[in-house]
Amino acid sequence: MIPMVDLKEELDILGEPIFKAIKEVLESGEYILGKKGKELEKQIASYVEASYGIGVGNGTDALYLALRALDIGPGDEVITTPFTFFATGEAIAQVGAKPVFVDIEEDTYNINPLKIREKITHDTKAILVVHLYGQTAKMKEIMEIADEFNLKVVEDACQAIGTEYKGKRVGGIGDIGCFSFFPSKSLGAYGDAGMVVTNDKNLYEKISKLRNHGSQIKYIHSTIGMNSRLDEFQAAILLVKLKYLDILLHKRSELAKRYTMKLNNLVKTPPLIESREHTFHQYCIELDERDQLASFLHQNEIASAIYYPIPLHLQEAFSYLNYHEGNFPVAEKAANKILALPIFPSMTFEKQDRIISALKKFIKIKF
Ligand SMILES: *Cc1c(COP(=O)(O)O)cnc(C)c1O
Repeated sequence: MIPMVDLKEELDILGEPIFKAIKEVLESGEYILGKKGKELEKQIASYVEASYGIGVGNGTDALYLALRALDIGPGDEVITTPFTFFATGEAIAQVGAKPVFVDIEEDTYNINPLKIREKITHDTKAILVVHLYGQTAKMKEIMEIADEFNLKVVEDACQAIGTEYKGKRVGGIGDIGCFSFFPSKSLGAYGDAGMVVTNDKNLYEKISKLRNHGSQIKYIHSTIGMNSRLDEFQAAILLVKLKYLDILLHKRSELAKRYTMKLNNLVKTPPLIESREHTFHQYCIELDERDQLASFLHQNEIASAIYYPIPLHLQEAFSYLNYHEGNFPVAEKAANKILALPIFPSMTFEKQDRIISALKKFIKIKF
């Protein structure tokens, strides 16, 4: 079976330095909020060209803490995309605010800036932008709207570490950027981990406190926070993998280019992208016979996945928002037609060719 990601294969290459890093932490006697975590905060901030990094438990907490730090809560509205992982909308609801969805663009699957203005009310406080699949959203247009209406911008860059937009790395463009190091992400830990980045010292201090029980000095608590910290093992592992991140991202883009060149006359593919505007955390194609193709690939021992089959506005958890089918046709169409193909840095061209041939065979049988 060719899996969606092969994390064990990666260990064949990075195993030695990672085992060494883990041993170092074991022997250090320091397991939470220690030297490795601090170093990772510094290095991730520097990698995404932001001033500060705050290590947290996971990407969902990163989003929650970002919104808390911006004092967003009950009575406030946050504009976001309905076509994303559930956590994006969940974090908005967790702080007590109301998610307000805006349909996506056909080509990038990201929030459509042309449709944001009509959703802004006097309760709107922020835009939560997602760089889906590793492709940047239209940040220039979004930042202009935010400026015009005095809104904050939070970037959900959980799938997009290393993605660039007009010479800047995503996560460091808006007021706050959020990253997930969930194992299958482009920079993955071997457990849960996440990071918040910002250029604002005040927000940095606020988030540092909030993730640690609202406390800066031990046993003195100025606000209600939470326990969401990055542990030293994950930080040590991520410090090793960060050194290879650019190589890993390059491999992804090489594979993506090959897919597109060989498939773009058969199905809807992402465009050929030479810049780092897309780092291909996922490689997604679109076709009407999506479900049939998925089972055909499965029969041929090839995994595929649907990100995401149900847009957020149609999720039961958000039924209280009273959206219904037809509200966001572009997102709904994508949910019905999208299929992610396996893409991971250690995938050989040989394996990729097996996937491409299977796909071609399916199209031939079908049409
Ligand atoms: C993975 C992901 C998250 C959540 O990250 P976790 O670390 O799993 O909590 C949030 N948003 C997006 C877009 C993601 O892909």
